[in-house]
Amino acid sequence: TQRTQYIGRFAPSPTGPLHIGSLVAAMASYLDAKVHHGQWLVRIEDVDGDRNVAGADQHILASLQRCGMHWDGEVTWQSRRTGLYEQALQQLGELIYPCGCSRKEIADSQLSLTGRQAQALIYPGTCRHGLAPGKSARALRLKVPQSPHCVLHFDDRWAGHVSQDLTDDVGDFVVKRADGFWAYQLAVVVDDGDQGITDIVRGADLLDSTPRQLYLQQVLNLPRPAYLHVPVVVNELGEKLSKQTGAQAFDHGAEPQQLLQDALQPAARFLGMDVRADSIAAFWQVAVPAWEQVLRNLPNPG
Ligand code: GLU
Repeated sequence: TQRTQYIGRFAPSPTGPLHIGSLVAAMASYLDAKVHHGQWLVRIEDVDGDRNVAGADQHILASLQRCGMHWDGEVTWQSRRTGLYEQALQQLGELIYPCGCSRKEIADSQLSLTGRQAQALIYPGTCRHGLAPGKSARALRLKVPQSPHCVLHFDDRWAGHVSQDLTDDVGDFVVKRADGFWAYQLAVVVDDGDQGITDIVRGADLLDSTPRQLYLQQVLNLPRPAYLHVPVVVNELGEKLSKQTGAQAFDHGAEPQQLLQDALQPAARFLGMDVRADSIAAFWQVAVPAWEQVLRNLPNPG
């Protein structure tokens, strides 16, 4: 396919240092940008003030540099872009409403829905037509069309065809949280749109967020990027690596040789590449064609 320009990004949340799982997402997005002669942006997703860890952003950026992954343009921080999220909220206008329900109330209402395996909370629309008496506004929600149902489809370059019925499986979702923080779903869509991101490469843990993001793109009149969700690295218990599941940082300021052997090569192997190299610079020279080879075997090479 002929592309005029490719703009990709890596968008870590600064909840701790990079671990192998986040390096895999960084590497895949970086290599995909290189293969397409595109730009690779880095955006620090620090909208969730409760989860931010002081200094983690700088640690992540330093690790990327030490791994030889140099970004294009300036790094952006979501916490400095909240004016854009406010603007988007204005643009959504009537589609937004205040909600006074607690998580517990939503969970309880879900118990009465039969035959549904509740993985995530599905909002039953309690406050859609006004706050229930005695309730005060907590979060802001975006209305999802009820009839016909809002069904979103996309062709993921790695995972293939994905579809979700947002009406049944998600319901009206939060764009601004009860604690006052902007929701990830809104911030990520606004930023990807504002930064002209054409290709999103990230972990498959975000596959089920994608339909909400597609819907937000529609109602905000933003173009739809292409998606590629790489498998996520799990621990021995089958849990996604994260700070919560005890993932270890790989960069303790050790020698480049060690970063190569303990981080870059294992991450590449996880992505299906066998990258033999004796320096970080040589690693990237071999990794770019190796990623092209990985892409050739995907359902939608892109
Ligand atoms: N900030 C998100 C995370 O670290 C990733 C967002 C994205 O790539 O869309 O899980």
